[in-house]
Amino acid sequence: MLVHWGKLEMRLIFDGHLDLALFALAHNRDQTESVAQINAREVGMTDALERGGATVSLPEMRRAGVAVCQSSISARAKREVQPVTGHRRIDLDYGTQRMAYAWAQGQLAYYRILEGQGEIKLIRTSGELDAHWGAWEQGGDESTPVGVILSMECADPIVEPSQAEAWWEDGLRSVMLAHFGFSHYAAGTGVSGPLTPKGIELLKEFERVGMILDLTHLSDMSFYEALDRFNGPVIASHNNCRALVPGDRQFSDEQIQRLIARGAVIGAALDAWMLVPDWVHGESSTEHVKLTTVVDHIDHVCQLAGNTLHAAIGTDTGATYHMPSDFKTTEDLRKLEPILVDRGYSDADIDNIFHANWRRFFRRWLPESSAC
Ligand SMILES: [Zn+2]
Repeated sequence: MLVHWGKLEMRLIFDGHLDLALFALAHNRDQTESVAQINAREVGMTDALERGGATVSLPEMRRAGVAVCQSSISARAKREVQPVTGHRRIDLDYGTQRMAYAWAQGQLAYYRILEGQGEIKLIRTSGELDAHWGAWEQGGDESTPVGVILSMECADPIVEPSQAEAWWEDGLRSVMLAHFGFSHYAAGTGVSGPLTPKGIELLKEFERVGMILDLTHLSDMSFYEALDRFNGPVIASHNNCRALVPGDRQFSDEQIQRLIARGAVIGAALDAWMLVPDWVHGESSTEHVKLTTVVDHIDHVCQLAGNTLHAAIGTDTGATYHMPSDFKTTEDLRKLEPILVDRGYSDADIDNIFHANWRRFFRRWLPESSAC
């Protein structure tokens, strides 16, 4: 379905994964500026590969028709990380969970000030989602707030399982137990192992408060254990297919089938190293990585499901150097539409992938009211 947006007609997008607060606080990016303004400020900066290659910001999301996204609170607690460069503001690692908690609360504060100023709308309930989506369907302009459902990438900022409820009351609605390496709760990308005793306890708290479990980034052993132990709703916000790109960051067909059986939605990520085999940060070019490759992953999930009810978008957009070469800003997500049409996807299928699957999932699993 197309909606009027200013003079344009467009299909709305629901993005399953962004890191808006992290890039604001760690990289000093004002998310209320255009991508062009952000990149102009970073000319000549050399502290990170991302510099000068921003692809997302709130004005860009509005132009692209991204009505709602999940956006993360991201921090890790790893005492063993002692980089020779020293600890820089762009690093994700803190020595203790208490420090990771404080940094994560800072990211929460960033979302709150954006909401207070009308830039975003934090969505905590199914009613808020319906009202927000309805407003976007009526059409909007350059000042319409972008909807944000708060997610957490690595559960370390939840200092103890008993603190899950306080985070829930802060508006957090989905959590990944780990990111890269071991967290205090599970084994993430690049390592192998089971859930920790604290991780098992945390899942019980998640069930109690209604938190959604995002299985993205879990190592295979932690993935299967979490899926077996957790009886609540599950998703994979930004995760591609191992059948197309070997490696533990992608899910095997068996894992995807297990997710589909649980009613999960799986967001296709735009990171080159998750889209094509053997892509290396800082070395490989993105010349051969295209948005058609993203559709290959979406299509693989649809083929496994036998329908279009589980595949979605979870961009994880960071910087142009590791994104498809025909993707420069969020607006380029619109190019996915003709690619899907070419592959025989119907109007209703494209709606499912662009927004309807995420929307249906969150309408079902967000609480009706904010009370715990
Ligand atoms: Zn991630």
